[in-house]
Amino acid sequence: MDPFADTLQRLREAFSSGRTRPAEFRAAQLNGLSRFLRENKQLLLEALAQDLHKWLGLVTSPTLLLANQEESQACTTSGPSHMPHPQLGVSCLQSAFEAEVSEISISQNEINLALRNLRAWMKDEKVSKNLATQLDSAFIRKEPFGLVLILSPWNYPLNLSLGPLVGALAAGNCVVLKPSEISKNTEKVLAEVLPGYLDQSCFAVVLGGPQETGRLLEHKFDYIFFTGNPQVGKIVMTAAAKHLTPVTLELGGKNPCYVDDNCDPETVANRVAFFRCFNAGQTCVAPDYVLCSPEMQTRLVPALQSAITRFYGDDPQSSPNLGRIINEKHFQRLRGLLSCGRVAIGGQSDESDLYIAPTVLVDVQETEPVMQEEIFGPILPIVNVRSLGQAIDFINRREKPLALYVFSKSSQVVKRVLAQTSSGGFCGNDGFMHLTLASLPFGGVGSSGMGNYHGRFSFDTFSHHRACLLRPPGLEKIYAIRYPPHTPRNLRV
Ligand code: NAD
Repeated sequence: MDPFADTLQRLREAFSSGRTRPAEFRAAQLNGLSRFLRENKQLLLEALAQDLHKWLGLVTSPTLLLANQEESQACTTSGPSHMPHPQLGVSCLQSAFEAEVSEISISQNEINLALRNLRAWMKDEKVSKNLATQLDSAFIRKEPFGLVLILSPWNYPLNLSLGPLVGALAAGNCVVLKPSEISKNTEKVLAEVLPGYLDQSCFAVVLGGPQETGRLLEHKFDYIFFTGNPQVGKIVMTAAAKHLTPVTLELGGKNPCYVDDNCDPETVANRVAFFRCFNAGQTCVAPDYVLCSPEMQTRLVPALQSAITRFYGDDPQSSPNLGRIINEKHFQRLRGLLSCGRVAIGGQSDESDLYIAPTVLVDVQETEPVMQEEIFGPILPIVNVRSLGQAIDFINRREKPLALYVFSKSSQVVKRVLAQTSSGGFCGNDGFMHLTLASLPFGGVGSSGMGNYHGRFSFDTFSHHRACLLRPPGLEKIYAIRYPPHTPRNLRV
């Protein structure tokens, strides 16, 4: 018995009825998503706290990172969620900083942007014409694909489900969302609460792990949007190929971070430590490793120690600002990586709390496991290079990363790395701030993925760009020049 057949049949019929196409319907779905976020914020923050320990402290001033002033007011004044911090044993405010900025606000901003621009995005796009089509109307129509499947991961389980969903609904598709089974508390809210805010003839959440997803992927979809690791990306793409279904693959990899000798180590340390440890390092665009000279390493390591102590105190395990590893399996994998190179900072772990200390490893060899796999935890290896050229060679010898970071006071150095490498995204002199701009496409290249989204790029990703030419039914005398028999006279025209 196929557990998905009835649901998919229902959604297909809804799409065929044409009901998802009008702008009013699409706007109603986006407004539904917005209400879901507003009315269930507490529930969502609690689910995120349970899944990823995003209790992360009392938010005093998130205004800088929140685009919306009202949102920041709401989160500074909301009451306690009574989510006990396991180490501190106290209740923490619901306004967990990381969850607020990286799950709730970012999703809300995508919805607001789509609502503001929906009609403009939907408009036919007029294109230039040639001599033979001067009397015609030529345009690109953005039409929905039909039935879309979104597969999302556990590390930002809300944002990475709702972000693509905004684009798919704005573009007028019917959608099946399959959240990660690993972030099970967020999965439960998405499955039980979210459908109530959307038209359920056009939207469904289905549940399951690899086995169930494998069965789901046997079905034909009109588009598949996958976020996850490259190995599973290959499984998804293979399944999609059987139906010639187009895909977007948002994957991961190892993001290099080159630190030039010409920079201020304290500033670099603040930025690298913050972005490495955000969400306990479980971020696809986190700086994965540092490339720098031995001289810069000597200055950078104490600066990293100082930044980590300022951020998380002398005992980071008791800090309410540091997250935990998602599960036992990933904890064991990360603990294994602590034996690579030599521990310069941190190195502690506690299985009972799924805690890995913010750690810096030095004397790391390129062949060691920590330099072979995506780390996805608060561990930062430093690999020494003797020159900028050697750093660029190192980066180019490896798979193309999802993000690449360069720190230097010299714009020439930043521009040279940009010009001589390739990556999904790039940020000079900071961590993953580029993804906060909805005006930039977000996606990978090579083994870090294909396709992109965010803002208008999401709408375009979930729309078929149909090439349209409307010609006058008459004027046959002019068009007759095309028809055989071809004579020297009509060939000259
Ligand atoms: P994952 O690939 O294990 O899981 C992603 C989704 O695929 C989940 O819904 C899961 O249920 C499903 N899945 C897992 N194994 C499957 C299988 N064998 N067959 C079919 N479906 C399967 O990824 P994850 O562990 O949840 O997330 C971490 C990975 O995702 C990292 O590699 C990270 O870099 C990447 N990631 C990328 C982005 C991005 O935007 N590029 C964002 C977040 C995470």
